[in-house]
Amino acid sequence: MSGSQSNTNGRSSHLGTALDERTVPAMGMSGPEFREAATSAIREIEQYYTDLPSRPVLPSVSPGYLRKLLPGEPPVRGEAWSDIEKDIERTIMPGITHWQSPKFMAFFAASSTYPGILGEMWSAALTAPAFNWICSPAVTELETVVLDWLAQILGLPEVFLSKGEGGGVIQGSASEAIVTVMVAARERYIRRQLEREGITDPDEVEDRSCELRGKLVALGSDQAHSSTKKAANIAGTRYRGITAQRSNQYAITGKDLRAKVEEIQSKGLHPYYLTVTIGTTNTCAVDDFASIAQVAKDYPDIWIHCDAAHAGAALVLPEYHQLSQQMTLVDSFDMNMHKWLLTNFDASCLYVQKRRDLTDALSITPAYLRNQFTDSGLVTDYRDWQIPLGRRFRALKIWFVIRTWGVQGLQQHIKHHLNLGGLFADLVRSRNDLFNILTPPQFALTVITVKPSRHTEPQLNGAGSGGDPRPYEEQHVPIKPNVDDKELQAGNEITKAVFTLIDERKEFFLTSTIVGGVYAIRVVAANPLAEEKYVRQVFDLLVSTTEEVLARHS
Ligand code: PLP
Repeated sequence: MSGSQSNTNGRSSHLGTALDERTVPAMGMSGPEFREAATSAIREIEQYYTDLPSRPVLPSVSPGYLRKLLPGEPPVRGEAWSDIEKDIERTIMPGITHWQSPKFMAFFAASSTYPGILGEMWSAALTAPAFNWICSPAVTELETVVLDWLAQILGLPEVFLSKGEGGGVIQGSASEAIVTVMVAARERYIRRQLEREGITDPDEVEDRSCELRGKLVALGSDQAHSSTKKAANIAGTRYRGITAQRSNQYAITGKDLRAKVEEIQSKGLHPYYLTVTIGTTNTCAVDDFASIAQVAKDYPDIWIHCDAAHAGAALVLPEYHQLSQQMTLVDSFDMNMHKWLLTNFDASCLYVQKRRDLTDALSITPAYLRNQFTDSGLVTDYRDWQIPLGRRFRALKIWFVIRTWGVQGLQQHIKHHLNLGGLFADLVRSRNDLFNILTPPQFALTVITVKPSRHTEPQLNGAGSGGDPRPYEEQHVPIKPNVDDKELQAGNEITKAVFTLIDERKEFFLTSTIVGGVYAIRVVAANPLAEEKYVRQVFDLLVSTTEEVLARHS
């Protein structure tokens, strides 16, 4: 029987009928059922993490595998949790790449920790799209507090703290942070340009703004993450890459910046935004902030954003604070706690020197979003610091993580991974008959190439390791300007063959890349379960696979 009845006019009426015919409890299960289900889920999750090292890190399924395991139609009647739970192991696990496995050394890490998981649980329990302060004052206020804590831990300049004109905000990802600041940069550039041109008439403002937008150019190093180019597409402006020289270890310099800006301006275009990076994706290069700062003084309208998605976590160590202090150069800075700093996805921490720059570009307040607190100007409405309206309670997991580890614990965590990276690099150096290190190992990442034949001298550029007084890594930066193409191709082929074999065997998960025409293998052990024994194992695997490939080739 339906919960409403038709009256003589054909309109349905709710009067005099039983409204609640639901067979599933309002919350999906009763409280005691939830307690039992959650206890079981937590038991299973704990077991998953315990067994993780023995699971293959990569799945062996073929595309479309899941469709074959699941019914094509949704269930008509609700199912018992015990039946749903069973399907996690049967259907989902076979298709999982285990990012938390200590054998995962690909891309950059994506941390998960128990305090992080508890933060996610509580965030789910207190679900609210907390766009305005009044949506849940604790959501906003905790975010401000923990981001101020993090800024202090990272040694960022005071201008990024909320007590002044700046502040931090949690974004979903480093890419989202870049789109957000690029829109702010675009609007700031146009506003300043209109002021310079003295344009105030609303129609003229509109026309000239559109005209200018078509001439704006976002800049990034060719080693910057692809999210900068993507953001320029989204922001509707041009993008130009600045070539980072191999001889500068793939960092861009002030000289590179000036040359590109002058080239762009000579074409009547307007550079308005630049991404600089601490820890590029390919090789963890760090751009040359000192020289960029000198040049940037001449171009104050270019918004500079520092992308420190992975490597920003290392700034918890005081020895990196000289890098943090250089961030006075940038308008905005972003690092992902969800990469290397023990916090579950997503927790990208974006800081700006002037929060007005964000709110000027992103604040729109229709009547239904107005309230006395927003109007008072005494509260932060984080919706004005981001692209979406709603936002999750992500500060909780950051709070739990920082309190569980303390500053000291965070420092030990990063130090541990830096030591693992150092160990791996030393192991590679010990076999310089087989491997080259492409750029100096940094932030737990080592990038290697395989020599085309067992050889004690580096092959890529003819610079002999024996006679070359430079550190081992630098020997692979060409002394002679012309890299011998044949040698390069041979090195690329062999490195690719080694990588492909390791990838097919799925024992460890690594990534390959191409940097300046060189095919290379990246190894980064930086998730919370990373351990020395796995670093030694992956090295042994690289050696045995290389020997196998070399034997085949010879
Ligand atoms: N920036 C750098 C340097 C990265 O390495 C990455 C991803 O690895 C990103 C940005 C993109 O990160 P996200 O997935 O948070 O957008």
